[in-house]
Amino acid sequence: MRTKTITDIDVAGKKALVRVDFNVPLSSKNPNDNITVTDDTRIRAALPTLNYLLDHGAALILCSHLGRPTSAADKQYAMNPVAARLSELIGRPVQKMDEVVGDSVTAAVAAMQPGDIILLENTRFEPGETKNNPELSQKLADLADVYVEDAFGSVHRAHSSTEGAARMIRAKGGPAVAGFLMGKELDALGTAVSDPPHPYVAIMGGAKISDKIKLIENLLKVADKILIGGGMANTFLKAQGHQVGKSLVEEDAIPEAKRLLKQAANRIVLPTDVIVAPEFSADAPAELVSVWGIPQDQMALDIGQDTIERFNEELQGAQLVIWNGPMGVFEFDRFAEGTNALAKLLAALTNHGVQVVIGGGDSAAAVRKAGLADKMTHISTGGGASLELLEGKDLPGISVLDNK
Ligand code: ADP
Ligand code: MG
Repeated sequence: MRTKTITDIDVAGKKALVRVDFNVPLSSKNPNDNITVTDDTRIRAALPTLNYLLDHGAALILCSHLGRPTSAADKQYAMNPVAARLSELIGRPVQKMDEVVGDSVTAAVAAMQPGDIILLENTRFEPGETKNNPELSQKLADLADVYVEDAFGSVHRAHSSTEGAARMIRAKGGPAVAGFLMGKELDALGTAVSDPPHPYVAIMGGAKISDKIKLIENLLKVADKILIGGGMANTFLKAQGHQVGKSLVEEDAIPEAKRLLKQAANRIVLPTDVIVAPEFSADAPAELVSVWGIPQDQMALDIGQDTIERFNEELQGAQLVIWNGPMGVFEFDRFAEGTNALAKLLAALTNHGVQVVIGGGDSAAAVRKAGLADKMTHISTGGGASLELLEGKDLPGISVLDNK
């Protein structure tokens, strides 16, 4: 990995502005309730970075967005419940500020000692945050000597807390580096983009092909094979001339699908059989058919056994596998078999040293539901960010960091 991380710099006696992902689910949307954090996974995930910085003598100024407030008036998105939970988990006081920047923050930061923790108010309470407003970025940068990015899910956006503040801390000579969570994401996904081991097999599924055309195109540049299942496969099957009945198809994307098939026919592997049903529902009667025989009044909701076997053959010998998008409507048990079978195949591959990286919110959920999350090499936490990285884009919150 090219990007510097916290282990590459000296933080003793420094004040570190740490962009964390504390965008956690809350118990209520009513500001008058006693709001609590209902799932603290993301706070726990940040602890290794925070503890490392504290153990090495830094004082921490933490910031994150939480929910989608339209202004500071949306008090239900205040960071108080996060500060309370973080303090319990880290076993130290956390001073929660009632503003993102301003006199109270400046005064509190000026009084900080190594080991102290301040949590700024929800960054999106400042309208400048999502506009990457230079004044807001400068005020954030003025607080600290060091910038640490550990919110991978936000690095595809150039916001004040993700890009602006980092750039301005660098401008005054301070380092801007990745925390441990970011480091893991960059190791797993960055390698897949820039320096993948071969054979490299990408597996794509999910519902929307138009969102992912760029991703498929870029994967074709670096991966040896692309296996396509899920709803996305229907558009490709139709582009190949198959009848797909009532299946989800993006007509507008058919020309693109045709072009990709022409460009890389022998490297794109499509389903040979699918599970069809007359309607999109959990208890619709399911039937296994060949892709040559999808009935007019039915829709494909999962891949079939023969397809799983073909995919399995393609995966043998692979060194790296990237998976984005479920193979079927895994939310319905009846149409979850293809996704679960694939998750099992991939889990078995990791036992033989194959790197298996999962990107995408629903794919991650499917792997967790199958109880196989621990088996995978890496499950990315950033939906949009991981897709954009795999598309080969430069992400503003990554490019701004120091390189080794
Ligand atoms: P991810 O979040 O992993 O990037 P997507 O959001 O692209 O994945 O796609 C996930 C959705 O795709 C799931 O809700 C799933 O039900 C749906 N899906 C998968 N296969 C089909 C299909 N054959 N027909 C309709 N929807 C499908
Ligand atoms: Mg999704």
